[in-house]
Amino acid sequence: MLQLRRISKRYMTNEFTQIALDEVSVNFRENEFVAILGPSGSGKTTLLNIIGGLDHYDTGDMLIDPKHISYPVSRYLAGYDAGDLLINGKSTRDFKDRDWDAYRNNSVGFIFQSYNLIGHLSVLENVEMGMTLSGVAKATKKSEAIKALERVGLKDHVHKKPNQLSGGQMQRVAIARALANDPDIILADEPTGALDTVTSEQIMALIKDIAKDKLVIMVTHNPDLATTYADRIINFKDGHLLSDSHPFDGEKET
Ligand code: ADP
Ligand code: ADP
Repeated sequence: MLQLRRISKRYMTNEFTQIALDEVSVNFRENEFVAILGPSGSGKTTLLNIIGGLDHYDTGDMLIDPKHISYPVSRYLAGYDAGDLLINGKSTRDFKDRDWDAYRNNSVGFIFQSYNLIGHLSVLENVEMGMTLSGVAKATKKSEAIKALERVGLKDHVHKKPNQLSGGQMQRVAIARALANDPDIILADEPTGALDTVTSEQIMALIKDIAKDKLVIMVTHNPDLATTYADRIINFKDGHLLSDSHPFDGEKET
């Protein structure tokens, strides 16, 4: 359902060009639970941001001054063929801002290490926030939010504030918020990075359950959790795939 074709991302700084993603090609199918492992700075968050439409991949119009390149990128000097991200077979090369907005708001849910909850809002209101931009009616928002909170085991905590919850409970609220719109894709950036081992395992079991009917792509620093819970493990290094335990290339393009 997602196909990355030679996706690159370079950051221009004053002194040099930092290559965060170096022509990454990888396909993801529906309902798989993919863990992405790799050292800090290898491009995992950049990859997740591009898949989620939070950040744009390079489209080939960036001017590169060879003397500013600090990374082995000889092929860029020979010419650069821009990449593409296909969503359900559809190219995003010509996506406008409103297309990215629609994709982000309706098709993707995000989960972060730091939960990113809003402190002065209740649990219920935080989950309703997940539907703010999708044009859902107020009453529907509330019933969908309660459904999502039931799914994560928090229906008795809907009127609490985030600071009355444990870390694991806060992450459950964030997961409910990500689920509220019923997106096809869940992107999780180190969802257990701030949690103890037992709580991490509970959260992973929940995410694995969610992946029964959604594509879940999760960045983690924890190889043990990845091997225990994920269906597929991708190792990242220096902006490219080092290994892929279950590569997938059988996707139809229509
Ligand atoms: P992590 O390793 O958890 O992904 P980092 O500390 O590497 O987090 O980076 C956090 C965020 O800070 C990145 O997603 C990126 O947007 C930003 N960032 C990282 N490195 C730089 C940099 N050299 N210049 C500007 N922003 C950066
Ligand atoms: P990871 O998530 O694996 O830690 P990131 O995707 O955060 O890696 O970063 C990949 C590389 O891109 C790193 O070298 C980082 O410093 C750089 N980077 C990320 N965001 C920015 C940014 N906004 N500006 C400049 N460099 C960045």
